[in-house]
Amino acid sequence: MAKEKRSYEEKTADPAAQEMLIRADELGIGTAFSRADDMVPCNIGGAGMCCKLCGMGPCRLTKDGQTGVCGATIDTIQARNLIRAIAAGSAAHSDHGRDMAFTLKAVANGETEGYVIRDVAKLRVVASKYDIPIEKRSPQEIANDLADLYLSQFGQQRGKIAPVIRAPKKRQQLWEEQNVIPRGIDREVVEALHRTHIGDDQDPVHILQHAIRTGLADGWGGSMIATDVADILFGTPAPLLGQANLGVLKDDMVNVVVHGHEPTLSEMIVAASQDPEIIAYAQSKGAKGVNLSGICCTANEILMRQGIPAAGNFLHQELSILTGAVEAMVVDVQCIMQALVDLASNFHTQIITTSPKVKLKGATHIEFDEHHALTIAKQILRTAIDNYPKRGAIHIPQITEELTPGFSHEYINYMLGGSYRASFRPLNDAIMSGRIRGVAAIVGCNNPRSKQDYLHTYVTQELLKQDVLIVETGCGAIAAAKLGLLLGEAGLDKVGAGLREVCETVGIPPVLHMGSCVDNTRILTVLTQMVEEGGLGDDIDKIPAVGLAPEWMSEKALAIATYCVASGAYVIFGGSSPVSGMPDRVEDSDIILRYISEGWEEIYGGKLEFIKDPDEMIRQTLAHIDKKRAALGLPEYDPGRFGRSGDNRMLEVEQLPLKARREALYGVAAD
Ligand code: SF4
Ligand code: SF4
Repeated sequence: MAKEKRSYEEKTADPAAQEMLIRADELGIGTAFSRADDMVPCNIGGAGMCCKLCGMGPCRLTKDGQTGVCGATIDTIQARNLIRAIAAGSAAHSDHGRDMAFTLKAVANGETEGYVIRDVAKLRVVASKYDIPIEKRSPQEIANDLADLYLSQFGQQRGKIAPVIRAPKKRQQLWEEQNVIPRGIDREVVEALHRTHIGDDQDPVHILQHAIRTGLADGWGGSMIATDVADILFGTPAPLLGQANLGVLKDDMVNVVVHGHEPTLSEMIVAASQDPEIIAYAQSKGAKGVNLSGICCTANEILMRQGIPAAGNFLHQELSILTGAVEAMVVDVQCIMQALVDLASNFHTQIITTSPKVKLKGATHIEFDEHHALTIAKQILRTAIDNYPKRGAIHIPQITEELTPGFSHEYINYMLGGSYRASFRPLNDAIMSGRIRGVAAIVGCNNPRSKQDYLHTYVTQELLKQDVLIVETGCGAIAAAKLGLLLGEAGLDKVGAGLREVCETVGIPPVLHMGSCVDNTRILTVLTQMVEEGGLGDDIDKIPAVGLAPEWMSEKALAIATYCVASGAYVIFGGSSPVSGMPDRVEDSDIILRYISEGWEEIYGGKLEFIKDPDEMIRQTLAHIDKKRAALGLPEYDPGRFGRSGDNRMLEVEQLPLKARREALYGVAAD
């Protein structure tokens, strides 16, 4: 039986998206929103109570004490399902990291077209962490060695992957004791698949121990490599002005939307779009030029480095095509809906696949190769330009918001202490004094089963009122951007008084955009630096901080959650749990749900919980932050204690009659 249809306002909090959903209905075209309404999720599979790992099944365990044909119990089945999802997420992030390392190697050896090493300083810093010699060596020599080291992490068979040395010492020791330090990135993913084959590992706790190791191979391995190399090749992000939402599409230009994850191709498309020859070609077809925008994490990558606008997050991929104004959507890997090709056939839009790993039936494939990157980028743009004269009726919602993305941990370090005294001290001090109550990382996807952007932005706004500093990545960051929460002082009047003082003093927005999904590793780096700075405990699990993915949907999100838990963080997911079980109907079907909370917390100090109600998410976030503050012996959070300085005081002074105002400002009542 189909679910009841939701109204446009129930489907999305974004007015631009509502406008496009109305258009979709007028044109009789389905989207993920309508398909989610039509497709009721299977409650047995959704609760993790189904196994289809072999031909004796699928086995659905819906009665007390029931086992699969092989005798597998429900907790074993759930643990196996969960680790497989974590392995897939780790594989996706890490394979992205591998390709970045291959590109670095090729750039170092002069084999690419169009790439340079943009951030030599970061190259030297990263290489030094691994004792790669840097003095009297060219950037290419250093990059070649770093690329070799990073590439070796994937196929390494024994020992420890190199980037784990960047975690706090105490955390490394804990991982050592628990035997969860990844030996090689690929090895852990392969072993997760091996262990979950019929007739292998059937002790759920043992399976989930390896889930931790597989997650760590992502966070302190593949993803960290992806972030490092992207910064080295394309520049470490620093704040700049950007725009978000569908209004960034232009009615008089060739609109090319880049969607996916890897910055290698999109950076080259940015360069090609500014080439006079390409602009002239676009003009020859009647357009003013080429207008680039991004979707998903590709959007974040080129937004934070080049200021290229974001057309939207995950659920905007179909909506952007519905405008009728997109000449080409260029995709690489991850989060690309198969529905795009069919949807695009209603318009002139061409879907162009570019990765040797990802093809869509019916799409145009122009394979990317970093050795000829600029040539291929121009070929893609010419294909899009050739499509411009075929454009039919268009409807672009005139809705955009400005934002300031680009808060890498290097920039946060700099902004807190300047070039010569770069430091996290002011942030730690602000948390210790209670001006900032704690930190929340709000990250992750959109999910059409919940109201798009609502959970992200509601939780963000409520936590800001409670003096919680927010950092964001991925589609969550784009959700906040679309609501105008990522812009300088905008919305500071809705922020707790203590946090507001800090933001005004340092000159930062209260919500910091830290990048794409692989850039959640920047958050690990920030947390490690906070530990090393002192005053907030000797490990990440002591810091008053929480991670949230209110609208998660991808397996990558589960991998991120796992490495964050293993690093000591409390992670809250919205929506439904893939291991919820049905404890009211089937005995012991929530053992795994409880284990990844209580069991993991006992070992790692971090835990993963699934909470549907946003107010409960907020309550649990604040309770955890306050618990961590109390454990550190920090003063109890007092919302009325701060906020008597800075702009707040100036606003009060401005309200005074002239004489009193002068007295307040100058100490004398001048005539
Ligand atoms: S592995 Fe066991 S529980 Fe899973 S499908 Fe096969 S028989 Fe059923
Ligand atoms: S946040 Fe989720 S939906 Fe968005 S790009 Fe990342 S994995 Fe995909």
